[in-house]
Amino acid sequence: MRKKDFETFVRERRWSWILTYTFIAILILMVFFFSLKRVPGYSIKESVVFGTRVKIVVSSKLAGRIIEAILQDMRRIDRKFDPYDERSVIYRINNSNGEWVEVDNEVLFVLKKALYFAEITGGAFDPTVGVLVKLWGFNDGNYRIPSDEEIRDALKHVGYENVEISGNKVRLKNGALLDLGGIAKGYAVDRAIQIAKRYDQKATGFIDAGGDIGIIGPKFGGSDWVIGIRNPRYKENSDETIDVVYMKDGAIATSGDYERYFIKDGKRYHHIFNPKTGYPSHGIISATVIAQSCADADALATAIFNLGLDYSLMYIPRFGGQAFIVTEDSKIHRTKGFGYFEKPH
Ligand code: ADP
Ligand code: MG
Repeated sequence: MRKKDFETFVRERRWSWILTYTFIAILILMVFFFSLKRVPGYSIKESVVFGTRVKIVVSSKLAGRIIEAILQDMRRIDRKFDPYDERSVIYRINNSNGEWVEVDNEVLFVLKKALYFAEITGGAFDPTVGVLVKLWGFNDGNYRIPSDEEIRDALKHVGYENVEISGNKVRLKNGALLDLGGIAKGYAVDRAIQIAKRYDQKATGFIDAGGDIGIIGPKFGGSDWVIGIRNPRYKENSDETIDVVYMKDGAIATSGDYERYFIKDGKRYHHIFNPKTGYPSHGIISATVIAQSCADADALATAIFNLGLDYSLMYIPRFGGQAFIVTEDSKIHRTKGFGYFEKPH
């Protein structure tokens, strides 16, 4: 081979190498961008609503707008259903001296749902615990242990049969006071999911309002979200969990005697009341319910505290939920269908 021919050969070869490398580089870049599209990033925002930490995790082209809309709606629901906020409709009903009060469809919807759960649980869930919440100081944090007589008196004003609905009007009999704190947060989470989907049908993620969690859509469009259930006797500043569930949709709510409580003479008094005795419920320290709607899960988790263990294990599935319950002896109990959620799918 002459020298000149050889140089041309090398030059041509070099071009083919350059072409090959460029081609490979483009291929790698394409794969990279393709995977970027397949695995969308998640926007995360935390805030405080309902006096608790709210975390929104969402993936969507409109993530920013979805997050803002959800937070705004949650604050709206918090104000609207807070029985101690003078601007709230619940405050108005509670302070109308038993007169009829006109309410909108949203209040009717939540109130009817609350009364439905009161009926099917035989009053274990009772939205008229307001008088008890106040008596024990859970409305303003001035906690106290009432006398037996005070409790006997208060119980005369407790009972969901005191709520009367006629068309779009509500009134309370017997000096009863509404408190929808056991269901409003779950309802707000259901709304949040609707809002996310309305902005973007393809949005995925979840909303966690202090242990009331609703799934917007599966992680990366197809995988389970891994959700920890908090150890009810967790140590300060730790996030210790006692169980993990895997969920692609639906909702999960946990009620615990550790959420709001005070301790007097070594005894814990918490914020879920037994409407029959007038005292905080005892026997169960944490109840988690998985259901299609977060309002349902929220109400059922609260109800379990008063339904008791055996009744809950039998009936919660019939009410549309699966339950994970921790009793005061630190033992864990599950309804038969709960195990399904303890494995990835
Ligand atoms: P958290 O708000 O800590 O998530 P829950 O969902 O269990 O807990 O709601 C507890 C709240 O529900 C109480 O603060 C009170 O407002 C209300 N509540 C208390 N006892 C009952 C009950 N037996 N039935 C319905 N609501 C209740
Ligand atoms: Mg609840």
